[in-house]
Amino acid sequence: DGALRGVDRVTTGVTDTISETFFEPTLRLGVTGLSQAGKTVFITSLVANLLDRGRMGRMGAVAGGHIEAAFLQPQPDDTLPRFEYERHLAALTGPDPHWPDSTRHISQLRLSFRIRPGGMLAGMRSARVRHIDIIDYPGEWLLDLVLLDKSYAQWSAEVLARMEKRDFAADVLAQLRATDATAPHDEATAQRLTEAFTRYLQQARALGLPDITPGRFLLPGELAGSPVLTFVPLAGAGGRGALVREMARRFDAYKAQVIRPFFRDHFARIDRQVVLADVLGAIHAGPEAVDRLGQTLTELLSAFRPGRNAWLARLLGGRRVERILFAATKADHLHHSQHARLTAIMAALLRQSRDRADFAGARTQALALAALRATIEETHDRDGQSLDCVRGRLLDTGRQAAFYAGELPDDPMQLVGPARAGAAHWLDVDYQIMRFAPAPLTRAPGDGLPHIRLDAAAEFLLGDVLR
Ligand code: GDP
Repeated sequence: DGALRGVDRVTTGVTDTISETFFEPTLRLGVTGLSQAGKTVFITSLVANLLDRGRMGRMGAVAGGHIEAAFLQPQPDDTLPRFEYERHLAALTGPDPHWPDSTRHISQLRLSFRIRPGGMLAGMRSARVRHIDIIDYPGEWLLDLVLLDKSYAQWSAEVLARMEKRDFAADVLAQLRATDATAPHDEATAQRLTEAFTRYLQQARALGLPDITPGRFLLPGELAGSPVLTFVPLAGAGGRGALVREMARRFDAYKAQVIRPFFRDHFARIDRQVVLADVLGAIHAGPEAVDRLGQTLTELLSAFRPGRNAWLARLLGGRRVERILFAATKADHLHHSQHARLTAIMAALLRQSRDRADFAGARTQALALAALRATIEETHDRDGQSLDCVRGRLLDTGRQAAFYAGELPDDPMQLVGPARAGAAHWLDVDYQIMRFAPAPLTRAPGDGLPHIRLDAAAEFLLGDVLR
């Protein structure tokens, strides 16, 4: 039986490989990061800039003239929502430019290229087609991997213990503690408690805390309101029909019917991955927020560590993500003289995560980028000192304003890791007031959208397959 299944798998593998290698190979690029990290803007600008390659000079395939054409195609997965590229692009480039709606669930877009190979055989070889399937999914869903190893009782004990230590959790914790777990299950109670618990998770995420599972409570997609998303941690045990029994059953259903299918159907098929993080937002919020972002990234990245979870390892069967890019987004909030330091901080966060999670051969790179540049740079004179500023249109008032954001440390370890400089705050300006709207664009055909190092990101992620 085992041997037969083995043969079956090999045969399927061969068919796949033949059709993909000889005809039109496909690469699946995953794009993730927590809510507000910049996924939607990143994908929209990446696609626009790969379709119009006027600003993608750092890509070898562009500089070398290998890309004959790029075009959008119907995606292969009929049941997955399509990434709403046209709508998001219209938001960014219309007469009243605004930021698009953020990622709420998984979606996909297929971008295809006609490529003229370079080198000695260039004249003899005909152009070939390559597909890039971009898969956008919430980082919150990735964090759920840790739940697969836990029983309901374990998970409940851990969550309740963490809530004990958090002042902002007091109300919700009191509600959970006051609930008689052995009482008969009652849907109204389950819903009321779930609402309270979801509020707690939202607050935890707003504070940048890394433990915000179950991830679908924050981004439920089409499952909003379903029983599989209506459970809370409760202490104690109960007999048949008890509330706690039903909560435990739903927790198990969440693992089997929500977490596993996501990892099996989507995550396991990803070839290359970009993980986006609002590092600047964390730096502005203070040193604790940077620590928490580091922990969250480590959690996210543990999904890419082979052997992190036995079930996932079996599922992947040795297959792994080939490249992972870690990108600090929204770098247009800083003058370019600070970008190298921002990259160094992202690299330090990555190193910290890598020390704890070995990616087993995946190539990794850290980068600071702006998918859509909303500012211009200006140097101002203040008290005889010249200050490197960025200027843009403020989201709230629509007025133009220039900011000097301050300086990042030249040694990232002053901000990241055990030796970081106590409670020191870096960057002066309040990030909340420095929220820029996308700038109105006048675009010539083939121009693409203004960005910072999006082409370097694309070169690392896709450069080799487009040549
Ligand atoms: P998602 O939740 O990961 O999909 O995040 P979005 O792509 O929707 O981005 C969240 C917000 O971050 C946007 O609404 C913008 O305010 C901001 N943002 C994202 N990318 C950029 C960028 O390149 N430059 C600037 N200035 N802001 C950005």
